[in-house]
This record gives sequence, C-alpha cells and structure tokens, in this order.
Amino acid sequence: MAKSAKTKTMAKRRTTANAKLVKPSRAEAEAAVRTLIRWAGDDPDREGLLATPARVIAAYEEWYSGYGQNPRDYLQRTFEEVGGYDEIVLLRNIRFESHCEHHMAPVLGRVHVGYLPRNRVVGISKLARLVDVYAKRMQTQEKMTAEIAGCLEAVLKPFGVAVIVEAAHQCMTTRGVHKTDVTMVTSRMLGAFRDQAQTRQEFLAALGLRPGMINGDVV
Ligand SMILES: [Zn+2]
Repeated sequence: MAKSAKTKTMAKRRTTANAKLVKPSRAEAEAAVRTLIRWAGDDPDREGLLATPARVIAAYEEWYSGYGQNPRDYLQRTFEEVGGYDEIVLLRNIRFESHCEHHMAPVLGRVHVGYLPRNRVVGISKLARLVDVYAKRMQTQEKMTAEIAGCLEAVLKPFGVAVIVEAAHQCMTTRGVHKTDVTMVTSRMLGAFRDQAQTRQEFLAALGLRPGMINGDVV
C-alpha cells in the first residue's frame, strides 16, 4: 500500500504538460545514456565518458526545449496599427536546428515565412521564436512546416500565410543513403497564398523561387 501511494506521488510530480506522459527523473535519463554508450561499444565508467550522460541530458534540455513552451504565447503581443499596410510581410532565412523524429538526428535548415496581414502584425523576433518552439521538438519537416503556418493562421488571422522550409537531414547525410548535398523543401500555403496565384508568385519571387520548384502544397 505504502509503496503504491509513493509511486503515485512520484508519477504525479513527474507528469509533464502532456498528461499522458510521465517524465523520467534526470538519474533515469542519465542511466539510459550509459546504456547507449555500452550499446555503442564503449565503457561509460572510463574517465573521458564519466560526465557524458550529464552533458547529454543537459543538451537534450536545450534541443527539446520546445515541449515546455506554447508557440501561441509568442504571438499574443501583436501590433494592431498597420497604417493601412496591406502587402506581404516576409521574413526570410530564419535559421533553425531540429531533430528528426525517426532517428533523432540533427535537421539543419531555414524557414521563410510570409503573411498578408489583416490589421495585426507581429514583431520579427516573435516569428523567429515561433519557429524555434516547433524546431526544438522531435519533428518531421512536413509537420513542422504545417504547424508554423497553422499557428500563424490561428492567432493572427491574416488573409493568408505562406511557409517554406528548406533543410538537410543528417539521418540522410551521415548514415543510410549518405546523400550529402540533398536538401528537402516543403511548403504550406494558406488563404490568399493558396487561392491566388499572383499572391503566391509574389511571395516566391521575393525568395528567388519559381512555381514548380517546391514539393508540397499547390506551389
Ligand atoms: Zn531521420
């Protein structure tokens, strides 16, 4: 009885934002890294590796910090005064680092975000933060592209949103097929960018792209 009550308390304490998940303790996470070191063929007790599990877990806190954040929070402070501005707002080359959810290998790339404001615009740094929240999770590039566009659409309610992501996946470049020069391009076009070819082309031209150069939606 006592043991079960204690286990329950621990489980409650470790429950993360996702109610279904029980987060392991730091000691449990470090023990898992020791197991992986042994699986790789080395001795976690040799001097050079003694502090490695702690370092890996600290790195995980940074690489996967997006789970603890709500992307919508970054867009809540919007500027309502746009002075009649009704052209595309475009942010190019937002650098991101993510990890693929299939191998947990690094995915390095850039995001281009465009939107057609309806009264509300958002600070440039907020858009970059938004990208980071989604990037600092285990991802597929397709999902991340859609999530960034969907969040902007839901919070800013603009006339349209366009997101293009270009990235290199280290699970392809350093293992498996070893295709070092391949990058993947994905896109999500919503509202005016989806419905109006001219708006879409204006966005692509600003990025130096042409229709047909990109996989994904209607581009
Ligand atoms: Zn992968």
